[in-house]
Amino acid sequence: MHGAVQSRNVEKPDEPMAAINLSADDDGRSMYRFVSDLYPICRSITGDGVRKTLNLILEQIPLTICEVPSGLRVFDWTVPLEWNIRDAYIKNSAGERIVDFRASNLHVLSYSVPVHARMGLAELREHLFSDPQHPDWIPYRTSYYKPAWGFCLQHRQLLALPEDVYEVHIDSSLEPGHLTYGELLLRGRSPDEVLISCHVCHPSLCNDNLSGIAVASALAKRLSSMDLRYSYRFLFIPGTIGSITWAAIRRSHLSKIKHGFVLTCVGDRGSPSYKASRRGDAEIDRAWTYVLKQSGGAFDILPFSPFGYDERQYCSPGLNLPVGCFMRTPHGQFPEYHTSADDLDLVCAASLSDSLAKALTTIDVIEHNRSYLNLKPFCEPKLGDYGLYSTVGGHSAGDFQMALLWLLNMSDGENSLLDIAARSKLPWEIIKEAVRALSEAGLLKPVDEPS
Ligand code: ZN
Repeated sequence: MHGAVQSRNVEKPDEPMAAINLSADDDGRSMYRFVSDLYPICRSITGDGVRKTLNLILEQIPLTICEVPSGLRVFDWTVPLEWNIRDAYIKNSAGERIVDFRASNLHVLSYSVPVHARMGLAELREHLFSDPQHPDWIPYRTSYYKPAWGFCLQHRQLLALPEDVYEVHIDSSLEPGHLTYGELLLRGRSPDEVLISCHVCHPSLCNDNLSGIAVASALAKRLSSMDLRYSYRFLFIPGTIGSITWAAIRRSHLSKIKHGFVLTCVGDRGSPSYKASRRGDAEIDRAWTYVLKQSGGAFDILPFSPFGYDERQYCSPGLNLPVGCFMRTPHGQFPEYHTSADDLDLVCAASLSDSLAKALTTIDVIEHNRSYLNLKPFCEPKLGDYGLYSTVGGHSAGDFQMALLWLLNMSDGENSLLDIAARSKLPWEIIKEAVRALSEAGLLKPVDEPS
């Protein structure tokens, strides 16, 4: 195919020949290697780059790869023609490739129609895209729904182009074919589902695209070995048209989705952020807020807005699913966004690892969240008689003791464990431990037996 954009200071795997094990607890290094493997592939919203990507994910998790034909009407949209590209270049009159798809797939406007022509600089410039603000980076541009062709290049190179007769060649095809996406269902005890969605449509861009794929794949692998309350549906889809297509096909199924989040931009060195669902106070919104608050580090909670990634579609008024978006630095807020500088240097193993850990903790919260009833609600029970009271008085109660008191006080059948955890600001593990102790002592029982 083609080489990746040259990248400095790239983290090197310890054992380059070993197969990637995304369930390994290796501080994110396997996820980083997975990002590195996916990086060179030229993806778009359809085509062989998406298939190749999904096949690499399939080596990690038992994905079902789905193909939807071009032309299918999906709500207000139509599944587009399939785009594939083999080569592209601009040659000067000396026959040198001065812009070369083989050096970076970002050089081609995604969904460019085929072209082979000679032209002067003025005509060529109408088809060139650059970013004057970042003259050394190649911008990422697309034209999915308007037939066009073009090249993206460093602004510095564009300014230096001399008057010449240029040969432009884009060996692409735009034909009836398919939109391809991947889906994985992990069955839990309940048919109620948690939706986890990421996009697979960007070419060589790491944070926006590949970080979400790596964390979602690792999350699926971890969850697949757990005893789960909920069923988990993972989607690896092209942005926008993929989620619209999936939702249209699965419309009758959507009521099963009780929680969900989109994973994107989860590999950069910024602090974590969570964008709430349209509902704003859905259980998943409150779970992520609690987990980020508990983490002790910097974080951001963003209100819903109808802009961003596929949460826009899941949160459209007709669906209104409780689906938020977990990211680190939000899209558009890091200068490398949609440029060749969103590369293997921008993402790091530690951030991928931290993002996975926070997603797993949030899932643990929704897995165990339910309401309990205090069976001795008339004043406080005498905890010492149940072996639950610290015998030495006079000092402030520890977290465990406080968790017992909060749980007994708030467990009136209405408040959930998440409500109590958020209000008490106590760590989730301590809350769970206190629930176990109170249940064993016969002081607490679930309002509804868990499914
Ligand atoms: Zn993007």
